[in-house]
Amino acid sequence: MLKDSRPRPKGVSESRIHNFGAGPAVLPLSVVEEVQAAMPNLNNSGFGLCEISHRSATFQAVIDSAMERIRRVLSVPEDYTILFLQGGASTQFYMTALNLMKPGERADFLETGGWSKKAVVEAKRVGGANVIWSDSENGFRSVPNAGEYAVSEDSVYVHYTSNNTLMGTQYHDLPDSGGKPRVLDASSDIAGVPLDVSAHDLIYAGAQKNLGPSGVTLVILSPWALARAQENSDAGRLPTMLDYTVHTSKGSMFNTPNTFGIFVLDCVFKWLEENGGLDGSIARNRAKAALLYGELDRTDFWTPHAEFEARSWMNVTWRCADKSLESVFLTESAAAGLGGLKGHRSVGGIRASLYNGCPIESVEALVAFMREFAERHS
Ligand SMILES: *Cc1c(COP(=O)(O)O)cnc(C)c1O
Repeated sequence: MLKDSRPRPKGVSESRIHNFGAGPAVLPLSVVEEVQAAMPNLNNSGFGLCEISHRSATFQAVIDSAMERIRRVLSVPEDYTILFLQGGASTQFYMTALNLMKPGERADFLETGGWSKKAVVEAKRVGGANVIWSDSENGFRSVPNAGEYAVSEDSVYVHYTSNNTLMGTQYHDLPDSGGKPRVLDASSDIAGVPLDVSAHDLIYAGAQKNLGPSGVTLVILSPWALARAQENSDAGRLPTMLDYTVHTSKGSMFNTPNTFGIFVLDCVFKWLEENGGLDGSIARNRAKAALLYGELDRTDFWTPHAEFEARSWMNVTWRCADKSLESVFLTESAAAGLGGLKGHRSVGGIRASLYNGCPIESVEALVAFMREFAERHS
């Protein structure tokens, strides 16, 4: 791809580490190279990727393509809306509540970690936010089973976080919402695990874990969600930039969108389509997680953080039984080319993020290092 003969840094690609960072996270190398090639000249337009108008036909083709691929890969129903917004998943904590609740209304929340706690805090600024299940006293090691919570009769929707990035837990079944609309923060497992979009009324995901760079947030809305937003919009309750109907009516181009991020998303979804779609992604992620949990279960040298049934395929969290070895592990693994393994400060220990862009070769290298480390320190 680099066709000129000037000297360049040797082995730029080969010197990439095995990246287990929690986000922004590793992308497939072929995607990174596709982005690199588009920087000086996007799709033969003569305009560079970061230098082209979002109003150009060239960019319109990019955003159309990204939306179509997302619809195909995630089986998004025809009457659902796809948006590319800014402000991260963190803005959606507030924006979902603001658009979906009306004055005096309440919503239910399943509290399974730091991110769902933040969603509750922001929703409380808008209306009632009932925490109907929380695992905070257990260190967020599990997710609820059916029958362990009761949905409030008067709640407008039920919000949950499908994968808990910090704690390393994940739902493996669709949580019961008692017939109420489901609102989902899928930031850290979207397009990596089974997902029935049609069973949800609103899904949001910051792109920087599984889909692309930071600065672009995928939002998927059902007709019900859009109708609720419309009622709040008509009543004058929504600031323009926090109004789903504004972004919908302008095709995510009310103001300048993250053009770069949307292009990367299109590349990532193309890569997913070329590699077996969602099913292919699920199979790869299942295999990666099985490999790493196999090592964690092999010896009590390691102590996994999450309860067995709630283990995440995306963020694997664990401690060394001898905690004093954790800093040694992090230093030595980094020296061995395994990066981003430090656990989140709220959990400590070690965390390996195995998002869509993480190849199984990286997990194989990690497991080989862990075996050798455990042997040496036992
Ligand atoms: C990373 C993350 C967030 C926060 O995303 P930002 O885009 O940084 O606001 C929210 N929810 C979950 C589940 C996450 O993993």
